[in-house]
Amino acid sequence: MTTPRISPFPAATVLGYPRIGRRRELKRALEAYWDGRATAAGLRRAGLDLRRESWTRLAALGLDRPPSNTFSLYDHVLDTAVMLGAVPERYRGPSAEDTYFAMARGTDRVAPLRMTKWFDTNYHYIVPEIGPDTVFAADPGKPVAEVREARELGLSTRPVLVGPVTFLLLAQGVPGGARRFAPLDRLPDVLGAYKNVLAALAAEGVDWVQLDEPALAAGRTEAELDAAGAAYRRLGALPDRPGLFVATYFGSAGAALPVLADTPVEAIGLDLVRGDDHLTAAWPEALAGKTVVAGVVSGRDVWRTEPEPALAALAALRERAGSVSVSTSCSLLHVPYDLAAETTLEPALVRRLAFADQKVAEVTGLAARLAVLPPGGGPSLPPPAAPVPTRPPAPPARSPYEVRAAAQAAHLRLPPLPTTTIGSFPQTGELRAARAALAAGELGEAEYDRRVRGEIERVVRLQERLGLDVLVHGEPERNDMVQYFAEHLDGFAVTRNGWVQSYGSRCTRPPILHGDVRRGAPITVRWAEYARSLTAMPVKGMLTGPVTIVAWSFVRRDLPLRDVVFQVADAVRDEVRDLEDAGISIIQVDEPALRELLPLRAADQEAYLAWAVEAYRRATSGAGDRTQIHTHLCYSDADQILAAIDGLDADVTSIESARSHGRILTEPAVAAFARGLGPGVYDIHSPRVPDAAEVEKSLRALLDVLPPGRVWVNPDCGLKTRTYPQVEAALTNLVTATRRVRDTV
Ligand code: GLN
Ligand code: ZN
Repeated sequence: MTTPRISPFPAATVLGYPRIGRRRELKRALEAYWDGRATAAGLRRAGLDLRRESWTRLAALGLDRPPSNTFSLYDHVLDTAVMLGAVPERYRGPSAEDTYFAMARGTDRVAPLRMTKWFDTNYHYIVPEIGPDTVFAADPGKPVAEVREARELGLSTRPVLVGPVTFLLLAQGVPGGARRFAPLDRLPDVLGAYKNVLAALAAEGVDWVQLDEPALAAGRTEAELDAAGAAYRRLGALPDRPGLFVATYFGSAGAALPVLADTPVEAIGLDLVRGDDHLTAAWPEALAGKTVVAGVVSGRDVWRTEPEPALAALAALRERAGSVSVSTSCSLLHVPYDLAAETTLEPALVRRLAFADQKVAEVTGLAARLAVLPPGGGPSLPPPAAPVPTRPPAPPARSPYEVRAAAQAAHLRLPPLPTTTIGSFPQTGELRAARAALAAGELGEAEYDRRVRGEIERVVRLQERLGLDVLVHGEPERNDMVQYFAEHLDGFAVTRNGWVQSYGSRCTRPPILHGDVRRGAPITVRWAEYARSLTAMPVKGMLTGPVTIVAWSFVRRDLPLRDVVFQVADAVRDEVRDLEDAGISIIQVDEPALRELLPLRAADQEAYLAWAVEAYRRATSGAGDRTQIHTHLCYSDADQILAAIDGLDADVTSIESARSHGRILTEPAVAAFARGLGPGVYDIHSPRVPDAAEVEKSLRALLDVLPPGRVWVNPDCGLKTRTYPQVEAALTNLVTATRRVRDTV
């Protein structure tokens, strides 16, 4: 059923490209628009400039027919929802931009759609809301417009769409009536909308469309695979359509491969970096008639591709598939643009690295070599180089909780329902400017230190005035909770321009963990010690946990991940010891990313959680009984990992539950947090300030379920992104409410 007019798939391609802008132009444009400093037309123009620049660059790097529709003003899953007409009624606003950003960010009137991690990456997407009554109506406007824009530059492109199966599997159901509903139930209707989009693209002269189906690589049920097969048979049967390229990634296509092979799609993308079993597993006969788009260049890390094994894999695939094209394992969205923009990295490290542009060059280079390789020729497949495990001995465990709790109560003498914060206070413009000046060499170390100390003093005095029970130093020295530690540990490098989109306008600059991790000198001790010297109240020290440090970095591949995390844990352990020696009796080790490294396939999850918990304990078990260990997790819908959270054995756990009232207080969750628990009572993600009555109500609800001796009162995350007026008002109300409730327990 192959449509005859489809031209051959390009020999080299990438599944997608960064979009935030080399100098984060999109971030600036979005913020200007949101602040009312720019018009919608200005924002659209900024987007167009970025798309043009990307296509031109990809063409210059030698890519024939680059991908399009990989740009997004906020998120590509949200774009897909809009393309399918799946816009919940409550978001509809006067303009397309109003509607779009209301879904992404909320308004005074409506809360935004939920946002969550895109598979196991650090990119976050907006979760579509699909109900039994959602009306799908195709709006191919965006992909069609991008095809035309590229054509004006003389370029043909391959529009990229989130595939229908992945779209529905990522969506969240709106329950309608009594019957159980899953968004995937709506597949037949969604396919109607995809048909129209494909027809519109065909009418535009598009010859290939890429449908991203990463969900198919995550291990799916029989029913889901059947649905995928049915979907692509139906789309494949369309009389007038572009060639269909279905891209699986973030793992082995596994059981989805024979299913896709059995449909009329012309090209299938495989992630050869994560799914190394593609070369050894049984190969469906039907693939002999298809193009395999082989993702041998990693889109997930910053390491240079070893050419010989990649070429060997390509040659081996070519023996079995109809034809082979060279590609990245997934979109390059997850890596920075260009290594050439880095001026401060060690040359020896630079030789090991490749960012997006270097990866494009790797893809075209491999394609050129494959093209001249005679059939049956090429390097033979080397056995996969297994990372060499190391097994450091486990440190001794802490005393049982009851023993520690008694020692801490005697030592700390905290009131019932102690109040505290999660660590950071607002980062002022002056501080950011001082840090930039320090980096640029315009401000001396001593003067910078003086300013940080000034800020610590201000934050300590503020907390005293507000009447909080456990104070923090406010984290003014940190640009970021991971980067700061990376800058002070051996084995890490940090980049100048290595920004990667996290969500919307938010970017992070992941450090590069390239060698053995060691802590040379104490990192946070002087700040905590200074804060402690200013006040008679207890001061809580603030550290980032080993899993989070690794999860938010680009990590070396020659050691098993577990062993890398253990090295970081031992460095954190040294810091815990030194904080304790400096008289800090409460130490918080944050692990907001504990769930982020959870493997996609259920079969691998238990082993991960076991070592992640072990790493946390390595980091914290050096603390004496009377030192209180806190942890903080940025979520509360932790059903999957409740046992692991319990296993951390922290004395106090704070979680983000302000937005999901009550959910955490269901039976299994309460049991899992059998020690101190601080379910956030102030949602710091919103500029809204809750009044004392509202905080009091949440507190009383907590006390219906938890014994008063276990409850802590705190915001649900760090205050870094809020303003001082908001923070002062909210914390005043939090303290007032706590005092009222305290008088009655
Ligand atoms: N201690 C950190 C802060 O307050 C925690 C941030 C986080 O949980 N992501 O900023
Ligand atoms: Zn948090």
